[in-house]
Amino acid sequence: MKVISACLVGCQCRYDGDDNLIREFQEMVERGEAVFVCPEQLGGLSTPRPPAEIVGGTGEDVLAGRAKVITDGGEDVTHQFLKGAEQALQMAQLVGAKEAILKERSPSCGSTLIYDGTFTAGKRAGDGVTSALLKRHGIDVYSEETYSKRKSNN
Ligand code: SF4
Repeated sequence: MKVISACLVGCQCRYDGDDNLIREFQEMVERGEAVFVCPEQLGGLSTPRPPAEIVGGTGEDVLAGRAKVITDGGEDVTHQFLKGAEQALQMAQLVGAKEAILKERSPSCGSTLIYDGTFTAGKRAGDGVTSALLKRHGIDVYSEETYSKRKSNN
């Protein structure tokens, strides 16, 4: 069983009310091979919502209390991001997920790259908050990009 970012299976849960549908991942849900989560909605944030970025580090740093998640308007939404990550982990554990496929570059779901906290479209290497928490608990996290590469290498 897998956990997949809800926006990748067609839920319009992105900050701007859109989705990132990839049909291959939607089909995994249809076949009962995966469940989907949107950590930011699970954390209590509305859709649409202001864009947010991790300021001062990565998802690991947020888990450790060394960095915060801030909206482009300056609101501290760290609490909601942490709550959403905990809820996503709970869902993953409930279904016995060993793998997750999460949306790259998101401050929650990114697993290789995230936005760098400057709101200028710059990126930094690292995990989002949910990816960091799932990895801490032994779940293999892929993005939509690294999962496809993994498959083509097999
Ligand atoms: Fe929700 Fe993650 Fe998709 Fe953002 S990237 S909309 S938090 S599922």
